[in-house]
Amino acid sequence: MIKPAGSNPSPDRPVFKVCREIDFCYGHRLLHYDGKCKYPHGHNGRVEIEISSERLDQRGMVVDFNDIKRVIQKWIDQKLDHRMLLHHEDPLVQPLKKLGEPVFLMKENPTAENIAKLIFDYASSQGFFVTQVKLWETFHSFAVYERSKEGVSESLG
Ligand SMILES: [Zn+2]
Repeated sequence: MIKPAGSNPSPDRPVFKVCREIDFCYGHRLLHYDGKCKYPHGHNGRVEIEISSERLDQRGMVVDFNDIKRVIQKWIDQKLDHRMLLHHEDPLVQPLKKLGEPVFLMKENPTAENIAKLIFDYASSQGFFVTQVKLWETFHSFAVYERSKEGVSESLG
């Protein structure tokens, strides 16, 4: 677990922010969706993980970029990169598993929004005070899952 320099910044105070970008490739498809994303396909995705703190640690850092890489990028590389991200009820899950193909199961549809939330929740669970995760699904489209004054909110870009 990462010990954050300072967590829970109050809304009106200035904060330091650091952001790391991580590229990964994933396949998915959407259930209950009437469009071409209902067919299995893939993306060269990019995630931007923003971590904030009101104060810096003794090194003068919000968090060591290397810790983000060591913990979050490692998890993405192992769990999500070059995997099929599928809704757990997707009929593709069993045949792919039978063939020995790696799949990552999600409780929700594997949309950009839910993938952003997945990474937000994992990074938070590892002790990072994450304030925003932005998931670029294409060069032109991203989804954001972020902490707001009231808590955490979701928005589309
Ligand atoms: Zn897609």
